[in-house]
Amino acid sequence: MYKCATCTETREEFHSIKITLTDCNICIANNISGSLQRVPSQILAITSKSSDGRLVRDYIRDTKEDVKEYKKELTAKGVPGVE
Ligand SMILES: [Zn+2]
Repeated sequence: MYKCATCTETREEFHSIKITLTDCNICIANNISGSLQRVPSQILAITSKSSDGRLVRDYIRDTKEDVKEYKKELTAKGVPGVE
């Protein structure tokens, strides 16, 4: 799996495991090259290889909720730069 650092586009690459992609299809059109970054396969292994997939999904969801709550808290305190 690859992730673009510029436009956050992600793409799965199942057929070219030996080829390292560096250019995002969207960004290369805007003359931005080398923005595509390979997501370490170990991250994929954690989410896909687990025998208890539900636990993994719950963990991710809870983490996102935590971030949301944290941002809400910061906003309430008037911390600048928080969406
Ligand atoms: Zn891109």
